[in-house]
Amino acid sequence: MNTKDYIAVEDHYGAHNYKPLDVVITEGKGVWVKDVDGNRYMDFLAAYSALNQGHCHPRLIKIMQEQMAKLALTSRAFRNDQLPFLAKELCELTGFEMMLPMNSGAEAVETAIKAARKWGYQVKGVKNDKAEIIACEGNFHGRTISIITFSPEEQYKQGFGPLTPGFKMIEYGDADALEAAITPNTVAFLVEPIQGEGGVIVPPEGYLKKAREICDRHKVLFIADEIQSGLGRTGKMFASEHENVKPDMITIGKALSGGMYPVSAVVASKEILGVFKPGDHGSTYGGNPLGCAVAREALKVIIDEKLPQRAQELGDYLMQQLQKIKSPHVDFYRGKGLWIGIVLKEEANGARRFCEALMEKGLLCKETHWNVIRLAPPLIISKEEIDWALERLEEVLTTL
Ligand SMILES: *Cc1c(COP(=O)(O)O)cnc(C)c1O
Repeated sequence: MNTKDYIAVEDHYGAHNYKPLDVVITEGKGVWVKDVDGNRYMDFLAAYSALNQGHCHPRLIKIMQEQMAKLALTSRAFRNDQLPFLAKELCELTGFEMMLPMNSGAEAVETAIKAARKWGYQVKGVKNDKAEIIACEGNFHGRTISIITFSPEEQYKQGFGPLTPGFKMIEYGDADALEAAITPNTVAFLVEPIQGEGGVIVPPEGYLKKAREICDRHKVLFIADEIQSGLGRTGKMFASEHENVKPDMITIGKALSGGMYPVSAVVASKEILGVFKPGDHGSTYGGNPLGCAVAREALKVIIDEKLPQRAQELGDYLMQQLQKIKSPHVDFYRGKGLWIGIVLKEEANGARRFCEALMEKGLLCKETHWNVIRLAPPLIISKEEIDWALERLEEVLTTL
């Protein structure tokens, strides 16, 4: 079997809800992956930041193997000996009082929405079923029916109605728009500190701080979706820290398990997560001992290997070097830490063909939106490996 054969089988039996690059990966280690034909590539997407610790990190393999041989799943009908420690360690890391474990990122966002609504009714005193949540243009928060309700992408919604009431959209980066959109029924403002899927969009300096103040003034919860921006990617443990903002609730996912297993969580105060009573919410796999054990180790790896600091230093270096490339196609670069969007000019005719050319040269990147190439390598990457990637980027950006 070669690449073509694998693709044929997948396209025959698998639903076509993605349009991946035609590379069939069979092995990964650190920043490198190998395809079924024996070609080697550098992974410059890192599964949308789920692989901040790199592919198959030895410490994560070890903990997975040990824990799965011991105990993998109890369900929350019983307790297990890993959940208490993940809860404690995540609260200590984030400075919050309580956590609620789920699996996918979308589930964490759903959990935050449910908590915010219930908090709105029980604590803020909003009339039943009237709660409103404000989200931003350009957002990405996942794919459930409620979440796509406030997606800016028509395609994400088209054909999936009826959608969920109670959400409002405002311009991203505009704090005045937030204040104008708030009503007595507003319970939360849901925002990515930096928009990932939107194309690595960094809001204007001071935006998060202003939004925080506005939320405080109107008793509205500030929910930061740090599923992609958190855990080191932007040069801080959480991207909200760039503006010294403490959200009321944070959603965490992706790198929380270092690519080993779906683990997500919501952290908040007791006042907020305390609204959940037994039976209100749950998940069969949420908080399972295997996921908790690997998440605990994945967090320790981020701290021990100083991944936020690496992202900061190497990200600055990557950005500096990119700026030196004289490409007729690039409009500008934007981003923070090891998270950079190469924004192409209209005439460049889309980012996809650049990603395909980069793949031919052994560098795996993925376009986001029509004209942005997103760079998001594992944070364990070395300077030499970044130089290797830069050579390919320069070649493709200047010759294509
Ligand atoms: C990826 C992502 C999600 C959804 O996570 P899934 O695990 O794919 O459900 C939610 N919010 C943000 C900001 C994301 O980047």
